[in-house]
Amino acid sequence: MNDEVLKPLMDLVAFKTVRYNVEDYERAADYIVKLIEREIPEASVEVVEGIATYGKKRKVKNILAYVDAGADKTVALVSHYDVVDAKGPRRIKVGDSVIEFDPFKPTLIGDRLYGRGAADDKSAVVASIFATKYALNELSKNVLLVIAAEEETGGEGGIKAVADKVAELADEVIVIDGMYGVIANGASGVVHAKVKVYGTQGHAGMPFLCRNPTHALIRLLNTVLNYNIFGAYSELPVRSHFKTIADRLTITRLSAGLESYNVISRDAEAGIDFRYVTEEPEAAEDMLKRIFYGAASSLGLSMEDVSVEIIGNHPSRYIPPNHPFITRFKEIAEEVTGDKHVVGVERGGNDGFIFARRGIPTLTYGAMTEDSNIHAPLENLRLDVYEKLIKVLTEYLKR
Ligand SMILES: [Zn+2]
Repeated sequence: MNDEVLKPLMDLVAFKTVRYNVEDYERAADYIVKLIEREIPEASVEVVEGIATYGKKRKVKNILAYVDAGADKTVALVSHYDVVDAKGPRRIKVGDSVIEFDPFKPTLIGDRLYGRGAADDKSAVVASIFATKYALNELSKNVLLVIAAEEETGGEGGIKAVADKVAELADEVIVIDGMYGVIANGASGVVHAKVKVYGTQGHAGMPFLCRNPTHALIRLLNTVLNYNIFGAYSELPVRSHFKTIADRLTITRLSAGLESYNVISRDAEAGIDFRYVTEEPEAAEDMLKRIFYGAASSLGLSMEDVSVEIIGNHPSRYIPPNHPFITRFKEIAEEVTGDKHVVGVERGGNDGFIFARRGIPTLTYGAMTEDSNIHAPLENLRLDVYEKLIKVLTEYLKR
């Protein structure tokens, strides 16, 4: 593995860019700016500050770097340098020995780099910089590097703070925050909602005097547990290596009760993550509300007993799998790597919808593999895949 691309990645993984670590967040952004200035002196670099939505009220830096190749077309390469938190130390068994490591101390084991952010998404940050450097003398398009904050937290200070600027310049967007071998022509939409059940507070010794919202919530959630099995399948003509993508409804948070064990509380709530593949975000919200209000009424709960509050909605995005942007990228990726690639819709979501909504053709690609353990313990990056990602991007920028 070429040390030129490995060293900066390891440096970057060592910054703990989680939302509460203001110092490392800041240092990582400064490191990236210096890296771009050193590797691509031709780039004009701009730091755009956004106000962080989560954690301490503070500014976060988004980095834009533009390389003018005198072409009429500009491609934006989008990545993010924040990560989800990770706890250590973790143990990895290598042969007969056990290696202990901290997720923020990047560690090379075999053909992989272990560490939080190695795959998601610091490999993309470094890959986009070096691909631009390697293609510099043969660029067929102008390049806009977009290295954002707050992707993992979905905050307003990240990509949203630079979206207008990027949209103004970019004719197409590659979000490098995806799977290797999969060119994502679309992504699921995500609705987050709070489902709340109201009852009456009272003594647990006399439950018959209360309407216990916790019991009611459990019965309500029980009716939607099977939703994933019977979930609607997409009408969209999608192909994916994950088979056809269904809507997915998942209960991700639960909270009920007060401090005391002997008190029936006044309300109870659940957090819902609903992934959908319709192109109409409002329809997804309506569907989610119908599911819960319908279930509530079948249980004899009234509209006053239950509320469904939409917390957020990231729309899905989609361009046809035979869009020239997709087919061209696929052709180059397959030629350069010798590996078969598929076109499909992502189950997760990422910052791509922001550009897709503005009508800019957007695809997702990246260096993650199914065993990269992203958002989980022992996140890792396959170095051969990292190299291939750089090659694919370099070649795309040239042609
Ligand atoms: Zn990511």
